Amino acid sequence: MSNETKPYAIGIDMGGTNTDIGLVDRDGHCLARKNLPMCRYTEIGAYVADVAAAIHQLVADRNLTFSEIAGAGIGAPNGNFFTGCIEHASNLVFTGVVPLAKLLGEQLPVPVALTNDANAAALGEKVYGGAREMDDFIVITLGTGVGSGIFADGKLVYGHDGFGGEVGHTILHPGGRLCTCGRRGCLEEYTSARGIVQNYNDLCKEMGVEPHEGADCQWLSEAADRGDETAIRTWVITAEHLGIGIANAATTLAPEAIFLMGGIIQAGHWLFDPLRIAFNEHLLCMQRDKIAILPTQLNANDAAILGAAALVQL
Ligand SMILES: [Zn+2]
Repeated sequence: MSNETKPYAIGIDMGGTNTDIGLVDRDGHCLARKNLPMCRYTEIGAYVADVAAAIHQLVADRNLTFSEIAGAGIGAPNGNFFTGCIEHASNLVFTGVVPLAKLLGEQLPVPVALTNDANAAALGEKVYGGAREMDDFIVITLGTGVGSGIFADGKLVYGHDGFGGEVGHTILHPGGRLCTCGRRGCLEEYTSARGIVQNYNDLCKEMGVEPHEGADCQWLSEAADRGDETAIRTWVITAEHLGIGIANAATTLAPEAIFLMGGIIQAGHWLFDPLRIAFNEHLLCMQRDKIAILPTQLNANDAAILGAAALVQL
């Protein structure tokens, strides 16, 4: 069986708190999954052994053999597709440069590939989601951070060193809010979960009202549903920041569509309606009203696993 015809793949979504591992078929169904809490691990050897064991178990539980598995794809923070290494990820216990694809590959009889989580998200949209027929599109993941994966001319953009396509760290406001990357004014600081809460707090201060204690994106979305004016305006302000950020990316890349992914998109029309307006306002006139802004077509629970599996099923 050639790799292109193998019916299954393993997707591994490695995050700061959990690793989710899933068995995925060619239609993008996650058939079975396992979860490893990261708090169990202090060193990489034990972690890799457990990931490999979980994969062997997933394959055995379905009475499959590895000859039916195309490979294992890993989506990880700061994952470098070219080297198969995680490089200096700040939210993992494994520090420095970790050759995860090589280490896991030594314990599995199938190919292992690795990339960063946002690139994996774009691959998932291409292989299983709404971008199947598209050669040019951008996926933006809105969550703790703001990640992005870019397809241009039918290929994922890695850049010369594997770290290309970081729309979240393009500078929107020079000298603005301090970003986790050490610079100031990145798009991420205005449109990530913490950035949105900061937008809300700044707005409350400007309006001279007391902010709701413990406000988060879910609260802001529910408060907007209740007609809370500050919450509604927070989404409009957030949409303005995001609209400029993705219009800049679209001006460079001329994508067919921009997909948004991550928990924040549950704000629904509170975010999408003002975003489409702001985005179009900031586009070059010949691009206006030609680029769709869409929610991901992948199931939220499986998106990260599907993206990782897509690495070996493309
Ligand atoms: Zn940054």
